[in-house]
Amino acid sequence: MKPWLLNILACPICKEHPLTTYVVQVETNRLKDKKGLAGELIVHHQKGVLSEPSLEPVHNLSKDKTFDKRLTKARQVFASLSRQKPDPMDVVPLVEYFHGLEINVGALRCEKCKRFYPIGSRIASIPELLPDSGRDQKADLAFLRKHRKVLPDVIVTGSEPVALDADH
Ligand SMILES: [Zn+2]
Repeated sequence: MKPWLLNILACPICKEHPLTTYVVQVETNRLKDKKGLAGELIVHHQKGVLSEPSLEPVHNLSKDKTFDKRLTKARQVFASLSRQKPDPMDVVPLVEYFHGLEINVGALRCEKCKRFYPIGSRIASIPELLPDSGRDQKADLAFLRKHRKVLPDVIVTGSEPVALDADH
């Protein structure tokens, strides 16, 4: 998933937004029409679709430094963005963060109900925001086991509705 999606994602159970995001594996997308995408983002911003708070609880656990640089820049640009008439060129760093990155593997966490949602568990880059009854517990546990060295304890052993035992 592209970080853009974090603007609108909410917990399917309790509707909390933003979700805490842990990035495990990420790659860079080549962007063809940055100016066009910048124009789109300006419209999103004016319509209130973009969520500045969603930029805060994002943690890069991968070794990709580009992600950190773009996230830092996106936070700065967003904070200084005028609602009236932003220059598309000023918005390009937001394009590079929101559209120019692909989170292939990661985890989302709702701080309110403590649920975790995998990204890229079964299909690379696809977030699985499912109600408890729609979850595949075996797949969720396998995902946690696979990434337990990278993901924080709060996800691995502290999540609802599935978590690993602390000593296994
Ligand atoms: Zn929730």
